Amino acid sequence: NVKSEGRNGYQFFKPSIQSSAINRLSMESEMRKAIEREEFVLHYQPQVDTETGRVLGMEALIRWQHPDKGMVPPFHFIPLAEDTGMIGPIGEWVMHEACRQNKAWQDTGLTGLKVAVNLSARQFSDRQLLGKVDKVLDQTGLHSSFLEMEITESIIMNDIESTISQMEHLSEMGLDLAIDDFGTGYSSLNYLKRFPINKLKIDKSFIDDVIKSTNDAKIVAAIIGLSHNLSLKVICEGVEDSDQHNWLRKHKCNEIQGYYFSKPLAAGEFERFVRENTSTLKL
Ligand code: C2E
Ligand code: MG
Ligand code: MG
Ligand code: MG
Repeated sequence: NVKSEGRNGYQFFKPSIQSSAINRLSMESEMRKAIEREEFVLHYQPQVDTETGRVLGMEALIRWQHPDKGMVPPFHFIPLAEDTGMIGPIGEWVMHEACRQNKAWQDTGLTGLKVAVNLSARQFSDRQLLGKVDKVLDQTGLHSSFLEMEITESIIMNDIESTISQMEHLSEMGLDLAIDDFGTGYSSLNYLKRFPINKLKIDKSFIDDVIKSTNDAKIVAAIIGLSHNLSLKVICEGVEDSDQHNWLRKHKCNEIQGYYFSKPLAAGEFERFVRENTSTLKL
C-alpha cells in the first residue's frame, strides 16, 4: 500500500495511527488544562549525607493527579510533554512550585535544604531559560544557592559549546548543576572536566547489583573516584537496602537517594520526615 506511506499525509487515515494521533491530541489538551486545574503535584525524595545521615536536600518529582486515571507517574506523560512542547509550561510550573515550597519551608524553620529539579532537553536549550529561572527566584524569594538543576548526559552532548555556555550562565546565577542518570549516556570524560557542574548522580542501574556484581562495584567505585578527583560531589540514586548503603558509605559516596531512606513523599510527609530525622537517619 504505497499511498499510506506517501508524503501527502495519507498515513493519518490508518485507523491505528489516527486513534493514536487523537490520543496524543487529547492528552496534550488535557495536559494544558491540568496546569490550570492544578492537577500536577510535586513529591520530594530526600537526599541524605552518607557520612552524617543529615537530609541535605530533595529531588522534586512530578505526578499528575488525573481526575479519572488517578496518580499518573511521570514516564506516562513527560515524554509526550517533551514531544509536544508542553514541557515548557509544565517545566516552568515545576520550577516555580519547587522554589515556592522550599522557600515556604525555609520560612518555617526547615532551612538549608537544596531542591533539585529535573530539566528536559527542550527546557535546557530554551533561549529564555535564564530569564525564566531568574523570574521564578524573584517571584518566590528563594536564593539561587538552594536550587539545583538535574540534566542528563543526552542533553549535554547535543551541542557541546552551547551546552557549556548555558551551564556557565546557570552556574553564574548561583545554581548547582548535577548530571542525572550518570553512566547510562554518552558523555565524554574529556568534556566532563569542562562542564561547570557540581555533582554526578550515578544511575540506579549500577546500584542495583553493586553487591552482587564485581563489575558494577568496580564501575561505581571508579565513578566515585573520578568525581572526587574532579572535585565533584557524587550521589547514588535507587539505594534500596542497608548492604548497598554500607557499601557506598565505605566507598565514600557523598550522598544517597533511594527507598532505603524514603520514597518520594508528598510535601507534608516530606516535612514530617525531615523534622523527625533532624539529627541522624539509620546509618
Ligand atoms: P530521575 O530524575 O532519574 O528520578 C529518579 C526516579 O527513580 C524517580 O522516579 C524516583 O521515584 C525513582 N527512585 C528513587 N529511588 C528509588 C529506589 O530506591 N528504587 C526504585 N525502584 N526507584 C527509585 P519517578 O518519580 O517515577 O520519575 C521518573 C523520571 O521522570 C525521572 O527520573 C525524571 O527523568 C522524570 N521526571 C520526574 N519529574 C520530572 C519533572 O518535573 N520534569 C522532567 N523534565 N522530568 C521529570
Ligand atoms: Mg532526576
Ligand atoms: Mg536519575
Ligand atoms: Mg532516570
